[in-house]
Amino acid sequence: MYVPKFNYHKPDSLKDACKILNENKNAALLAGGTDILVELKKGLLNYDDLISIKNLKELKILEEDKKNIIIGSAVTHSEIKNSTLIKNKLPVLSKAAASIGTEQIRNTGTIGGNICTGASCCDMAPALLVYGALVEIFSISEKKIIPITEFFIDHHKTFLKKGEILTKIIVPIPTKNMGISFFKFGLRDAAAISVASVGVMLNFEKGKCTDSKIAIGAVSPAPKLSNNGSGALIGLNKKEISNVKTLQIIGEAVANDALPINDIRGSADYRRNVMKILTQRAILEAVNQIKN
Ligand SMILES: Cc1cc2nc3c(=O)[nH]c(=O)nc-3n(C[C@H](O)[C@H](O)[C@H](O)COP(=O)(O)OP(=O)(O)OC[C@H]3O[C@@H](n4cnc5c(N)ncnc54)[C@H](O)[C@@H]3O)c2cc1C
Repeated sequence: MYVPKFNYHKPDSLKDACKILNENKNAALLAGGTDILVELKKGLLNYDDLISIKNLKELKILEEDKKNIIIGSAVTHSEIKNSTLIKNKLPVLSKAAASIGTEQIRNTGTIGGNICTGASCCDMAPALLVYGALVEIFSISEKKIIPITEFFIDHHKTFLKKGEILTKIIVPIPTKNMGISFFKFGLRDAAAISVASVGVMLNFEKGKCTDSKIAIGAVSPAPKLSNNGSGALIGLNKKEISNVKTLQIIGEAVANDALPINDIRGSADYRRNVMKILTQRAILEAVNQIKN
């Protein structure tokens, strides 16, 4: 199987990239190519023009301001996994990046490409959802910032419209009152697409949970915050949250929020059962990080 012929563009500015996107009816961006080139090869997608974002330096930033870590969309999974800044400030994002594919895929695949696939199983999504990340979107006419919760719309459908480029992911730095965790279950330890994945964020004030988010991946048309699970732990203390009964109830509630499919990696029932367990483990890991 060969990649079909296409016109290759390598613009030096965001504006030029947008212009080429707008001028060509059947064009797409090319980041690491680990997803799009595979789909082209399989004949699942077909583009006349591919626009490489390799020369767009502004998409390669990885920096900190007073409140956020700002990650350019073309930063690779390896760069995220190995960054001391990310390891110190957003360790769960580093863990999610480390869980993706193989070293070759991580060296090439980007955080932007990962979430722009809109795949329900994209592993950066649950972590970014529980960190409360925002994304910056650039087009010829405007630049906008939206919460990542609005980015994932449906199966392989994101908020991005024709001519728009995801430029940055802005992740608020968690406070010391938060516990955050991510668990992914795949059929192998390495190079495994998620059967299910869960992210959890708990915020504590004076010994009680004041905010909680639970994100689910690979078990619904798009990654999302679980409606049943998020907020369900508010008002409870550490002991109450760690209680087996509470964990089972929340695990069940989150699994009920999923709309899993049957596929080669597992049946819908299997995925729901995995969700119950992953959710409990993720809550326990998050609550154990709470010091107050
Ligand atoms: C062997 C193998 C194993 C894998 N394992 C995993 C895994 O464990 N977990 C996982 O989540 N994924 C996995 N993947 C999928 C893929 O590698 C990742 O999703 C990767 O992060 C995609 O990033 P990329 O830079 O290669 O994207 P590309 O393939 O270049 O692009 C993907 C899509 O995003 C669009 N796009 C890219 N950048 C932008 C941007 N800045 N703005 C707007 N649109 C953009 C492209 O047009 C395209 O539609 C695997 C793939 C392979 C081949």
